[in-house]
Amino acid sequence: MAKVAINLSTGSIQQEEVIVGIDLGTTNSLVAYIHPEDKKPIAINDQGRGTIVPSVVHFTQTGETIVGTEAKDYLTTDPANTIYSVKRLLGKSYKDVGEHTDYFGYKIIDDDSEGLVKIRVGDKFFSPIELSAEILRELRERAEHSLKTPVNRAVITVPAYFNDSQRQATRDAGKLAGLEVLRIVNEPTAAALAYGIGIDPNEEKTVAVYDLGGGTFDISILSIHQGIFEVLSTHGDTYLGGDDFDRAIINYWIQNNQLIADTINQDKSLQQELRLKAEEAKRTLSSQPIYTATINGTIDCHIERHTFETLIAPIVARTIESCRQAMTDAKLQPEQIDAVIMVGGSTRVPMVYDGVSEFFGKAANNSLNPDEVVSLGAAIQADILAGNRKDILLLDVTPLTLGIETMGGLMDSIIPRNSKIPTKAGRQYTTSVDGQVNMKISVYQGERDLVKENRKLAEFDLKGIPAMPAGFPKVDVNFILNADGILKVEAIELRSGVRQEVEVKPQYGLTDEQVEQMLMDSITHAKEDVSTRMVIEARTTAEQMIYQVERFVEKNGEHLTAEEIELTRTNVQNLKNVLDSGDKDAILKAVDILEEQTSPFAERVMQISIKQAMTGKKIE
Ligand code: AMP
Repeated sequence: MAKVAINLSTGSIQQEEVIVGIDLGTTNSLVAYIHPEDKKPIAINDQGRGTIVPSVVHFTQTGETIVGTEAKDYLTTDPANTIYSVKRLLGKSYKDVGEHTDYFGYKIIDDDSEGLVKIRVGDKFFSPIELSAEILRELRERAEHSLKTPVNRAVITVPAYFNDSQRQATRDAGKLAGLEVLRIVNEPTAAALAYGIGIDPNEEKTVAVYDLGGGTFDISILSIHQGIFEVLSTHGDTYLGGDDFDRAIINYWIQNNQLIADTINQDKSLQQELRLKAEEAKRTLSSQPIYTATINGTIDCHIERHTFETLIAPIVARTIESCRQAMTDAKLQPEQIDAVIMVGGSTRVPMVYDGVSEFFGKAANNSLNPDEVVSLGAAIQADILAGNRKDILLLDVTPLTLGIETMGGLMDSIIPRNSKIPTKAGRQYTTSVDGQVNMKISVYQGERDLVKENRKLAEFDLKGIPAMPAGFPKVDVNFILNADGILKVEAIELRSGVRQEVEVKPQYGLTDEQVEQMLMDSITHAKEDVSTRMVIEARTTAEQMIYQVERFVEKNGEHLTAEEIELTRTNVQNLKNVLDSGDKDAILKAVDILEEQTSPFAERVMQISIKQAMTGKKIE
C-alpha cells in the first residue's frame, strides 16, 4: 500500500509519489518500485500476469496496440505487424543497422541512410522512440494499476555501451510515454545496486556484471568508489544469447530425427512447436538431467543435459572470451574483481554459471532473480533520487565550471559546466619553485578566465611535500562530484604520498538568477578574458624562465664566460622591463631572446658533468 502524507500548509491529503525503476530490455521489460513498508525493491506483478513484460508491440487490424505476452503470440501469426527487439534500433540510422535488417521480421524503412530508422506498420510509420514509448506506457499503466497511484517519474536503464544518441532516444521515449525520466542509469550499475554494492559511499569495489539475455550478451567491468560507478570496460555480442541455445537444440533434433528433418521446411507449425519445445527443454535442463517430450504424441523430443552442454560449449566459450577481453581492456586480473553479478535469464544455465565463476575464480552472485535484478536496481536508484535514502540534491549536470587557480590567478577548469554528475576528473600539477614544500589549492566555480571574477569555494594547503627541484613533484588534483552535488577535492603528491582533501557544496547559496548572471557575464567578457589570459600565461612563462636562468647562473657560473654572464643579465633585465607592460607579444619576444641565448649553456654544463663523472670512474 502506498503511503499517505498530509501537506501541513494546505491540510490536504497527498499520496506519496512513487518513482519507478524501469528495465527497458531488448526481449523483456520490467518495472519495479520500493515497497513503502519493508523498503525493499520489488518488481511489479500486475494482476498476476508476471513481472516480465515481453518487449513486443502488436498493431491490430483495427489500429489498437497490444504490448507484452499477448503481442508475442502474434510474432508467428502476424510478423509484419508485430514489433520485437526495437531496442536494437533506438537512436540508430539505417546505416548503423546495415547488414542486420534480415534479423527483423518487420519492415525497416531505408529512406535516408543518415537519418534515424523508421518502421513501417501497414500504412503508418513509427520511430523506435515511439515504439519504445508504447512499451513504457504499458509498464507505466501496470505500475499505476498495481500501486493505485499516478506514476509520472521514472529511472530507466540502458546498456553501458549506449552512446549519447541512444540515451537521448530512451529519454525521449520516456517523455512520450508521459514519464519524466529522472535519470538514465547503466544496466550493470543497476545490477550492482540491487546487490547493495555502491550504496555505502565509503565502499570501494571492482565488479564484473555478466549479462546473458535472450538475444544479447554483455560483460561490464565497474569500479565503484565514493558512490561513483565508473565503467572501466565493456565487451559483448549484441547478437548472442539464450535464443542461440534454443537454436542449437532444434538443430540437434533435426539432425537426429529423420521425421523432423523431412518435414521441418514445409511445416510452419512444426517449426513453431519445436521452438517452444527447445526453450522448454533448455529451461528444464537448468534443474533436471534430462528432458523428454513429444510433439503431437508422435515426434520424440528428448535431450540430456550433457548433450545440451556439448552443444552450447562453443557459445559459452565465446562469452568467456569476451570476459577476458573486457578484463584486458580494464587492465585487471580476475583476482582483482571483488564480485561477479549474474544478469539475464540465460545465466540460469548451470554451465554458464560454472564457466563464469571459474573464469573469475569466485562464486558469482545469483541470489536475486536474474530477470529482475536490473529493474530492482533501477528502483533503488529511483528511491535515492526521490530523496528517500539521503537528503540528496537532484542534480543532473553541474551548472558551472569547477576548477582551481593556477599561476597568475588563472582559472584551470577541471569539471566543465554541464558535465553529467556524478563525475570525477583530475589533473596533474607541479611546483614552480625549488624546494617548495607547500602547495596552495584554491577551488573556484565559474566561467571566467580569471579566478578573481569567479566564486571561491574552498582553499587548502597541501603540506609536507618533500623538498625537490621545481617541476619534480607530481601533484594529482582530483575533483569528485557526487550525485548529491557535493564536491570533494583531493590533492596527492605521488612521489611521497602526501595527501589532503576538502569537501564543498558548490551549489550552496547560489540562486538560479545568480548562476544565470555568472553565465551571462562570462559571455559578455569573453573577449577581454581571453586576452587577459594570454597576457597572464606569457607572464607566467617569463617569470619561470627568469627564475630558472638566475638559479642556473648562480649554480653554474664557473662554466660561463664573463661576457656570457653579462649578456644573460641584460636579457633578463629586458624581460623584467616588459613583464608588467601587459603586452603579450613584447613579453614573449623577450622570452625568446633569453631562451635562445641561454639554451646552449645547459648542454655545455651537462657535457662537463658527464666528463667529470667519467674521469671519476676507473675503466678496466
Ligand atoms: P532476458 O532477455 O534477460 O529476459 O533473458 C531471457 C532468456 O533467458 C531467454 O532466452 C530464456 O529462454 C532464458 N531463460 C529463462 N529462464 C531460463 C532457465 N531456467 N534456464 C535457461 N534459460 C532460461
